[in-house]
Amino acid sequence: MIPPGTGFPTDRASASTPIAQSAADVERLAENVPSLAHLDGRSSVCRACPRLVAWREEVAETKRASFADDRYWGRPISGWGETRPEILVVGLAPAAHGGNRTGRIFTGDRSGDWLFAALHRAGLAAQPTSTTAYDGQQLRHTRITLPVRCAPPANKPTPQERDACAPWLHQEMRYVLPTVRAVVVLGGFGWTSTWTALRAAGAAVPVRTPVFGHGAQVQVPNGPLVIGCYHVSQQNTFTGRLTEAMLDEVFRCAKVAAGLARTA
Ligand code: SF4
Repeated sequence: MIPPGTGFPTDRASASTPIAQSAADVERLAENVPSLAHLDGRSSVCRACPRLVAWREEVAETKRASFADDRYWGRPISGWGETRPEILVVGLAPAAHGGNRTGRIFTGDRSGDWLFAALHRAGLAAQPTSTTAYDGQQLRHTRITLPVRCAPPANKPTPQERDACAPWLHQEMRYVLPTVRAVVVLGGFGWTSTWTALRAAGAAVPVRTPVFGHGAQVQVPNGPLVIGCYHVSQQNTFTGRLTEAMLDEVFRCAKVAAGLARTA
C-alpha cells in the first residue's frame, strides 16, 4: 500500500488527513470537508468497510504475477480530472489490479483502455491510453468518479458498502454540479447512485428514478443531461454488446449537451 503523503502523483492525502473508520465517519467527514481536494484526500484514506479494506490490501500485498514488481496503491480511488468539469463520467468501483494497483481511476486495466481511447477520440483526454499515474494523461473538460471507491471482490459491492460510500459521491456532486452539463453513467449500478447523488446535491431530479438503458437520456431541469451507457467492462466490450461506435455516440451527445460540440 502507498502511505498517504509520500509523493504519489494522484495522492491528495497527507499523514494528518482524517480517516473514516465507519459509515457515520464518512458522513461527517464528507459533510464538513473544506474543498474538493480535501474530499479527494479524505476519501482516499477511508477504512469504513472492513470487507473492502481487507480485500484491497490483500490484493495489494499478494499482487497478480504479471504485476509482481509494481507497488500497489491499495487504497480507495478518488474522483480524478477537472475540478470544474462540464462532463462527469460515473463508473462503478475500481478494479483489483487496475485502479487499486495504479492509484488512478480506470487506469491500468482493459476497461480503462476502452474508456480512455474513447475520451481521446472525443478530445476529452490528452492521450489514448491510461497505464500509470506517471503517464502524463490529462482529462479535458471532464472528471471521472465512482460510487464505490474500493475494489470489491468479484466487482460486487454489497448494498451496505454502497450506502457507506455514498456521502463521498454526494459531496463530490455538490462541488461539480454548478458546472456539469452532461453526466455519462456507465452501467445500471452507477445510474442509480448518480440519481441519488444528484438529489442529494439539490438537483431537480424526477421522483421516480428513470430506467437505465444504453443511450437513455434524461434532462435535469436547470442541470445536466444524464446519459446512460453500457459499462466498459470486458463482459460488454468483448461480446460486442458495447462497441466503439456506441461509446463515441455517447460522448458526442455529452459534448453537445456540454456546449463543446455542434449538434451536426
Ligand atoms: S468503499 Fe467507500 S466507504 Fe467503504 S472503505 Fe472504501 S472509500 Fe470507504
